[in-house]
Amino acid sequence: MRAVLAPMLFVALSAQAPADPLRTAVQADNAYVVALYKELHQNPELGFQEVKTSARLAAEMRELGFDVTTGVGKTGVVAVMRNGPGPVVMIRADMDGLPVAEETGLPYASKATATTPAGIASPTMHACGHDIHMASWIGTARRLVDMRPDWSGTLVMIAQPAEESGSGATAMLADGLYTRFPKPNYVLALHDHAALPAGMIAYSNGYALANVDSVDLTIRGVGGHGAYPHTTKDPIVLAARTVMALQTLVSRENDPQSPAVVTVGSIRGGTSYNIIPDEVKLQLTVRSYTDETRERLLSGIRRVAEGEAIAAGVPTDRMPLVAIKEDFTPATFNTDKLTRRVADVLVDRFGKDRVIPQPPVMGGEDFSQYHRADRSVESFIFWLGAVERKTWAAAKGNPLRLPSLHSSKFAPDPVPTLAMGVEAMTSAALHLMPKGGR
Ligand code: ZN
Ligand code: ZN
Repeated sequence: MRAVLAPMLFVALSAQAPADPLRTAVQADNAYVVALYKELHQNPELGFQEVKTSARLAAEMRELGFDVTTGVGKTGVVAVMRNGPGPVVMIRADMDGLPVAEETGLPYASKATATTPAGIASPTMHACGHDIHMASWIGTARRLVDMRPDWSGTLVMIAQPAEESGSGATAMLADGLYTRFPKPNYVLALHDHAALPAGMIAYSNGYALANVDSVDLTIRGVGGHGAYPHTTKDPIVLAARTVMALQTLVSRENDPQSPAVVTVGSIRGGTSYNIIPDEVKLQLTVRSYTDETRERLLSGIRRVAEGEAIAAGVPTDRMPLVAIKEDFTPATFNTDKLTRRVADVLVDRFGKDRVIPQPPVMGGEDFSQYHRADRSVESFIFWLGAVERKTWAAAKGNPLRLPSLHSSKFAPDPVPTLAMGVEAMTSAALHLMPKGGR
């Protein structure tokens, strides 16, 4: 999610392409889309709790004449518009916010709160910009409805719950997304980008985002008195060793050409100065692109943890417990043909300076599930620049100086971001559903 851009690219942003009917219409409707964005921004809901959000989106789509089904995959919305023969194009937005207390200082900052699945009351915020995705999605639907004489095919607009937990896409698919509704030939999405200025787009051909696994690792020892370590098997020292040894899965065992990350994001153990605890709990995130690398990392974690436990002399019935979470998010793959087609359309429309290729990132997106569920479905997700141009220039485009996605200070610049999102997505859909077929 982080691209370092040469400052000179910024110059190109001020060069406006000549007006055309789509751009004029997008500009004319932008105030509506921005107002909707601000409303959504003020009312974020957590994954699978998107009750008001989905009702709001469903109402918009009904108003536009779509055939709308709600409650798909708990809170998902599917809106279908049949407009003559031709391909089925599915456009996806995700709806969930995050348990983050907003610190942007914006007049429309969120003050909402919600209860997390763990039962913790928390302020909530659209810190991943899914409100940008939803507002662009509505804006795109509005344009495509207005331009119905200009395209032919079936448009399936879906609003997906619970992207952040990696389970919303799976829930919609399991609830018959590809059987109860027209199965798409093409599926498109956009994600806002926290280090790319508004008015720009970036994309990857092939892998775009990574496999994401969450692993719970419980390192067990034999507890006792802190003054008599020789009578214990200290799991804290063992956990420290294990954390260091896990680093070699990437630095020594992994082919440097195949991206991999193993991060220990949480480590908890013990209660007091002089007590050696029985166990230490670690939480890991594991990232990769290919199935092979993923398998190797996951089996490597088990091997390293057990190996270290054996080296520490832990009894065999106290070997570490490794639990790989089931809601694995597979790597997002942009299929070649569709990526080229849409990238060409976007380059034609906005110019090479504003539509740039970028390397894949180690973040994850459950958008991956739509292609993985049926490999004949071509899929493409692109990055939508969201940073205010002045802010981006002041940071010299350095992502380390800009609030990242999920930051409490992430504040997209809605006017140009949404205009670009709507125009880009609408032009892609029009290209994929040409009047008179292809
Ligand atoms: Zn996110
Ligand atoms: Zn996101």
